[in-house]
Amino acid sequence: MKTIVLKFGGTSVGSIKRIKKVAKIIKSYSKKYRVIVLSSAMSGTTNKLISMSKKISNSFSDQEYDALVSAGEQISCSLLAGQLIENGIKARSWMAWQIPILTDGKHKHSRIKFINNRIINKYLRAGGIPIIAGFQGVNKNSQITTIGRGGTDASAIMFAKFLNADRCVIYTDVEGVFTTDPNKLKKAKKIKKISYEEMLEMASLGSKVMQPHSIQDARLNRIDIEVKSSFSNKTGTLITKRKNAINNRIITGISSTDNDAKVTLLGVKDRPGIAATIFKPLSENSINVDMVVQNISSNGKETDLTFTIKSSDLPKTKKIITKNKNITLKKMVFDKNVSKVSIIGVGMVTTPGVTFRMFQALAKQNINIQVISTSEIKISVLINRKNAMKAVKSLHAEFNLTK
Ligand code: ADP
Ligand code: ASP
Ligand code: MG
Repeated sequence: MKTIVLKFGGTSVGSIKRIKKVAKIIKSYSKKYRVIVLSSAMSGTTNKLISMSKKISNSFSDQEYDALVSAGEQISCSLLAGQLIENGIKARSWMAWQIPILTDGKHKHSRIKFINNRIINKYLRAGGIPIIAGFQGVNKNSQITTIGRGGTDASAIMFAKFLNADRCVIYTDVEGVFTTDPNKLKKAKKIKKISYEEMLEMASLGSKVMQPHSIQDARLNRIDIEVKSSFSNKTGTLITKRKNAINNRIITGISSTDNDAKVTLLGVKDRPGIAATIFKPLSENSINVDMVVQNISSNGKETDLTFTIKSSDLPKTKKIITKNKNITLKKMVFDKNVSKVSIIGVGMVTTPGVTFRMFQALAKQNINIQVISTSEIKISVLINRKNAMKAVKSLHAEFNLTK
């Protein structure tokens, strides 16, 4: 018998009614497959737990954060297993430490490095359906860890890898991966097949339908992912290797962010190594610097430097730069009202003029571009957040994504 991994996201298990529906979906696979289920917490639960920790402190212990926020998955998994048992199906919930799912790396951002498949394989052979808590792991010191928001996607991929599954299906609240967020743009179109590379860019650039690490893991291990809705029976999206996802599109998708902030350092004393001096302490504090522009110094002495970070890192960044004795600057300015809008597609590699078309489409809408960054398969621009949807809409039309 073949093995299948099914992952259910927060909305899919968001109420008892939804859990009953999910139990039916699981049953429908169980005649043909050995089924392994990964479940997220019921929607809203993880956020609620995080907000409780913030009421205690903004610098709540990372170790206790993991112990706290992983609790949501215990509730959804036990409810789902209980429902299956109620329906006469052999099922059991499993937390990460019981398997175990071993992680390494820092608390809040650990990565799964090994899953012991012995106990789950034994249970599968005995005809059971394991309902496994996503998002969590356990480290070598027996501490509970979590693997980043939306991490159950990555848990599912790692189960597919370590249990040698034949299929991996991600059930969510939309019918698949769309050309842009279908909840924001009604005209967005479902994508039939998308390459790992494009999906990784889209996910990293703000399309939260899949967690970026899960796509990296799937790509490394050549695991095809089907993304579909737990609310309908329609065919979803296949995330697969580039060779299998060829289409004649220039642009595959558009992403936008709403959690970026822009930092500008004005009148920085210019000298070789200045950028490194600024960014080293940021990276040592796990602050990810994304887009960077440094103006050419007009007088050979001073320059302006602009970069983007996650909004949540803004207070820490301010402190670190103010404390940095190795830089002299006139002024530091922040802007939280920015969005990064990106177009993504392997088709742009072989098509000239894509950058021009993007900039022209934005100019036509009177949208000012503040920072630009590119890679082989994506172009990102930083703009005022109030223009983000207008930009997405005009780019969606410019690159004919509605067709
Ligand atoms: P789950 O709880 O199932 O993991 P998420 O909320 O993490 O679900 O992801 C699904 C959501 O991702 C959708 O409801 C949708 O609003 C959002 N989304 C953003 N970009 C896209 C996209 N390009 N295609 C589909 N959904 C997207
Ligand atoms: N419950 C976790 C979160 O909300 C993990 C997940 O949903 O995948 O981030
Ligand atoms: Mg998710």
